[in-house]
Amino acid sequence: MATTPNLPTPDFTYDPTLPGACIAGVRPYRNGSYRLDSETIGSKFIVHNYGHGGAGITLSWGCAGKVHDIVKGFLVGTQDTKVAVLGAGVMGLTAATRMLDLGLAVTIYSDRKPLETTSSKAGGQWAVSVVEYSGKERELTDIIKTAYTTFKASIGQGFGVSERPNYTATSSHNLDIVIQLAPGLIPPRKSLARLPFEGHTQPGFVYQTLLIEPPIFLARLEADLRARGAVFVNRKFTGKSDILASVTENILINCTGLGSMTLFSDTKMQPIKGQLAMLPPQAALKYLYGQNGYMFPRADHVVIGGTFEVGVNNETPDPTVCQGLVDHIASQFGKAPVKPLPDIHIHHPDHAPIVNPDIPVA
Ligand SMILES: Cc1cc2nc3c(=O)[nH]c(=O)nc-3n(C[C@H](O)[C@H](O)[C@H](O)COP(=O)(O)OP(=O)(O)OC[C@H]3O[C@@H](n4cnc5c(N)ncnc54)[C@H](O)[C@@H]3O)c2cc1C
Repeated sequence: MATTPNLPTPDFTYDPTLPGACIAGVRPYRNGSYRLDSETIGSKFIVHNYGHGGAGITLSWGCAGKVHDIVKGFLVGTQDTKVAVLGAGVMGLTAATRMLDLGLAVTIYSDRKPLETTSSKAGGQWAVSVVEYSGKERELTDIIKTAYTTFKASIGQGFGVSERPNYTATSSHNLDIVIQLAPGLIPPRKSLARLPFEGHTQPGFVYQTLLIEPPIFLARLEADLRARGAVFVNRKFTGKSDILASVTENILINCTGLGSMTLFSDTKMQPIKGQLAMLPPQAALKYLYGQNGYMFPRADHVVIGGTFEVGVNNETPDPTVCQGLVDHIASQFGKAPVKPLPDIHIHHPDHAPIVNPDIPVA
């Protein structure tokens, strides 16, 4: 029987102490479900769009479509022509884009520039990862379909989106969500007798997925928004009363991610820190890889991640953790002694999706 040739082995040479080689971000996780709804407070109509955990990039265009529909419905009974978007991460920028599509004048308020947000630190796989959607199966189905088809249509258009094979050691819970909610949306997963890599003997799976490179995607969204007349304002809000008093627009889209924990006193919000090892880019690598941790080949870096620190709300990277991530993936290729992920790969007992050692979690 012919053996499948191996795909290129990554170069795992890595110095976690170099600037930018080890980064950390905090996922805006929300217990029960992400928030996508509206409320009226006095003269303000507020649409909330936050709490997407490890799937904000993935769901962004779909959620922006829902925000569009909510605001379009509201506009039927008002003369308002202006909208304030709070937050310049992926949720804010995609929602702002759809607000321009409605013909509204858009101002984006944020205390961080797009490339400083959590969104800019995401790995970038299209995966419904570490997000709850209790009771919202139909809504999430729409969101997934819109998001996937919008990203797919943008391949080759300068948004940093590409379709890649993802090789995984086990079947992916994240993928199962998509197969279950939107059958036929994505190409089927194939079983492999052996993963086609140096040092691998075990069976596995491959499926086609989308890689969305956040630095390219966010920069492009920002450039397009500015070109279409959206205004960016640097502003740090201290609380809901500050927002209501200082934002002059009557329509507000709240995309402040983890910021909503304090700004809107949302006790369901929970920070989940993740760390990423950023290796130099390697043009020969065209595939994603997942084995209790993940590796994404981007234009700027080969990204290795897979840590979850539930309840930890700081962006301080730990070089030891990043080195541990690299050693873990390298060991699968026979390039380092076999090691589990760093101890920091915490699985929280209260979170079923996180307990599942999903491949790949993002
Ligand atoms: C390590 C890691 C890997 C990840 N990998 C993936 C992945 O592969 N695929 C995927 O889909 N997702 C991934 N994610 C998840 C993704 O990054 C988030 O779900 C997404 O960034 C959330 O976007 P957001 O716009 O809601 O929040 P953010 O990007 O955090 O944006 C929030 C905005 O609100 C502003 N803001 C907050 N508070 C205030 C305030 N008080 N005043 C003014 N402005 C405020 C911020 O400045 C910012 O502009 C990953 C996350 C991490 C940490």
